[in-house]
Amino acid sequence: MLKYAFLFPALGLLAFLTLLLGIWQGNFSWFVMTCTLTIAITVWGVFDIRLGYFVSTFFRKKNPSSKMLALTFDDGPTPYTIEILNLLRAYQVKATFFCIGKQMLDYPEIVDQLIVEGHTLGNHTFTHSQVFGFLNERQVVEELKKTDKIIRDKLGKSPKFFRPPFGVTNPSIAKAVKRSRHHVIGWSNRSLDTVTWNADKIFNRVTNRLKSGDIILFHDTSQRTVNVLKRLLPYLQDNGYTCVSVDVLLNLYAYDS
Ligand SMILES: [Zn+2]
Repeated sequence: MLKYAFLFPALGLLAFLTLLLGIWQGNFSWFVMTCTLTIAITVWGVFDIRLGYFVSTFFRKKNPSSKMLALTFDDGPTPYTIEILNLLRAYQVKATFFCIGKQMLDYPEIVDQLIVEGHTLGNHTFTHSQVFGFLNERQVVEELKKTDKIIRDKLGKSPKFFRPPFGVTNPSIAKAVKRSRHHVIGWSNRSLDTVTWNADKIFNRVTNRLKSGDIILFHDTSQRTVNVLKRLLPYLQDNGYTCVSVDVLLNLYAYDS
């Protein structure tokens, strides 16, 4: 697997050597190619959380012993969370909610309901800043700490799971996570439910690529997602999948003791 700590210095050295070669030969095409490759790999690493380029990431369970997967919901809680909770309860499904701290302050009673009904809470930063990828290490740590505290005040323990907004990772986020000691949780099956307007299309996208061990990314922020779940939950049940929380799927602790 590609890793920033190893690959970035290696590419830097290669760039330096090809620069020397360029000066010697009067032709900088190898240098330009190396720089282009470095930029391409870095951008790929920033935006594809599954690569684990900057920080180790859990994004699916390899070879699970039985047919299981984890449903995850980002960006809540919102009033739609209540409808989702009703559906999950009806199908006796436990899920994982990566909550935004500010949203938790706005909807504390929904957070209580999430906890009472046995779902797992994860940290999805305090503000979900549109420029999250440009925050420095101190700012990322602050985002994490604030949301950890809200969850700790509710549960008496801090969440171990963190999902970066937009799935973005970079050296600042990697350093912050190393300090905060969260597990970074990605996904293997992305519903694209925030950008696809048709619930049937979202359902087809998720089910066409469905694999046991998947971590599926949804958002509890729209009626569309509620409508997808109305079809998806019976589909999963009929096809023998057990939906579990991320901690159960990955066999990790969801909270500090
Ligand atoms: Zn988000």
